[in-house]
Amino acid sequence: MYPKSFEQLVGALEALPGVGTKTAQRYAFTLLNKTEKAQELAEALAAIKNLRRCKKCGFLSENDLCEICNDSHRDISTIMVVASDQDLTAVERTGQYHGLYHVLNGTLSSTKGIYPEDLNLETLYERLDGIKEVIIAISPTIDGEMTALYLDKVLKKYPLKITRLAYGLPMGANLDYADDMTITKALIHRQKFEEQ
Ligand SMILES: [Zn+2]
Repeated sequence: MYPKSFEQLVGALEALPGVGTKTAQRYAFTLLNKTEKAQELAEALAAIKNLRRCKKCGFLSENDLCEICNDSHRDISTIMVVASDQDLTAVERTGQYHGLYHVLNGTLSSTKGIYPEDLNLETLYERLDGIKEVIIAISPTIDGEMTALYLDKVLKKYPLKITRLAYGLPMGANLDYADDMTITKALIHRQKFEEQ
């Protein structure tokens, strides 16, 4: 019914989570009427082609190494393992953590069929030389807990301290949605893995 290029735009928008046909059409019409915004969006979309994963930690980056891995002021004896880019930025936002990160890009899941080889784990094991502490900072959901237990089991083979965030969060809560104070407290009161 609509011109092909318009239908293509609607189709692309519909692929986004939570966007149905009606919403996609509304977005498409908005973009048509706001050409300046549409141009901005087009440029932003073109630029994401340059984004890649940091070779060391797996965080989003425009270069081989991300800004955090490249920062000489970070404590290089501590790695915090997080499930996603959003979780990393949630912790970083608090300004309370100065070590390095490792982004798994997911959690293990028996229901979704996500196994250790699907996560960014191999590069983590390659980084453990000289590391004194690994902080497991994975949201305490069912899949998150399974991932944390798996990591604890594997990391025990290395001579380092394994801690995890002391959640003031209820089970099932998402780290990404926690406020800064909750994350800060959880970081300060992190515990040895075995104690929980
Ligand atoms: Zn990095």
